[in-house]
Amino acid sequence: MKMIKICAQALNRWILTQKSTVKASDSRRNGMVATLLILSFGVATAFGLTPGTSLSPIPVSAVIEDITRDNLTPTETPGIYTQQDLVRSGDTLASLLFRMGVDDRAALDFMRTNAIAKTIYQQMSPGKPIRVQKRANGDLISLRFPQSDSHTLVVERLGEQFQAASVAVGSLRRVVQTSGTIESSLFAAADAAGLPDNVTHQLSKLFSTDIDFHNDLRAGDTFSVVYEAAQDDFDQVKPGKILAAEFVNKGIPVRRVYFDGPEGGDYYTADGVGSRTAFLRSPIEFSRVSSGFMTMRLHPILNTMRAHQGIDLAAPTGTPVVSVANATVTFVGWRNGYGNVIELHHAMGIDTVYGHLSRIATGLHAGNHIRQGDLIGYVGMTGLATGPHLHYEFKIAGIQRDPQGPEVPRIASTNLTGRAKAQFMSATAPYITSLNAIRGLALAKFE
Ligand SMILES: [Zn+2]
Repeated sequence: MKMIKICAQALNRWILTQKSTVKASDSRRNGMVATLLILSFGVATAFGLTPGTSLSPIPVSAVIEDITRDNLTPTETPGIYTQQDLVRSGDTLASLLFRMGVDDRAALDFMRTNAIAKTIYQQMSPGKPIRVQKRANGDLISLRFPQSDSHTLVVERLGEQFQAASVAVGSLRRVVQTSGTIESSLFAAADAAGLPDNVTHQLSKLFSTDIDFHNDLRAGDTFSVVYEAAQDDFDQVKPGKILAAEFVNKGIPVRRVYFDGPEGGDYYTADGVGSRTAFLRSPIEFSRVSSGFMTMRLHPILNTMRAHQGIDLAAPTGTPVVSVANATVTFVGWRNGYGNVIELHHAMGIDTVYGHLSRIATGLHAGNHIRQGDLIGYVGMTGLATGPHLHYEFKIAGIQRDPQGPEVPRIASTNLTGRAKAQFMSATAPYITSLNAIRGLALAKFE
């Protein structure tokens, strides 16, 4: 049990390092979070993470016991204590080490005189981490301090001597699992679950073909995420890409898994159906529909009855607008009423139109081939517009349709088959196991 307690502290610490704005009084946090660090896969530098590393499907209870911090200090010998702290303003090396329980005159003398070690005196700025190993009597065993993004200063005791070296930064690949429940918004829930912003963005993008995060979210919706991260020598964790995720919206679970397939890495449904060529629900990440698709409406400026052959998405000026699918750019420029407008041509005889833009993305021209999710421009109110919004049209065979209607193809049938399917199933099985495990844990916790 003691082991598990240490793990929980490590976990909390890990979560704290994820969010710079964590409120210490967020008592909901513990109740909301079911986070596990599972397994690490040896050393990889930064994000050159080994692709296709397999995750053994380990039962959750065992996984929890695996969460120890000593991957970095595998020789945790009795009588030696590891401690980490941050440099504070006004710290001298002596005061910092003293605060960490190191009382070692010989070590300080060495660091003052050794050419490599003494660099720490110029580099001690507030907020930098420092990690020491020490004996109970205060003797320094080792010290690690970041010199740059790529190098760490390591000072080690050898008997009664010390040595110093500047070593390349190593990082451990971690796979992190988190789940959360929506109470008000995706971002609030993600915050409560300790999910890094970068991962939250990936999550909303991943499910944007299935869920309109403004209109479809319900209190009680849940998400589970498995993502990779790189943990450096000081336990600072940089999140990487999502490996698998589940979103349960209005009781219906949707899953996506990452697979490095024949055409490169991409996301698939759990059955191996690719979703890349589907059309995003919205070309803006967060917005609200201020005017829907209507055959007739009173035009707000012209004051006459006209059809509204698209939808208006209200969003602040400057909000990024992305392509809803892979496309060829067919028009970029000014058109009466539309202001700055972009037209894109997609597969299946589909065209999309983006109007009232304040700006066009740099370098975007007719004839460009772009991918789903690429930035094309920014929300504005050029042309006939009463306020900043995106006028968005969706045309099938030249005829405007409701972009949120049932005619819009959500998922194209890019099924994996044969050998690729078999590889997919075996590569993603551990992620599915993880999702099932998190879900079980979340249910046990919240029900
Ligand atoms: Zn409009």
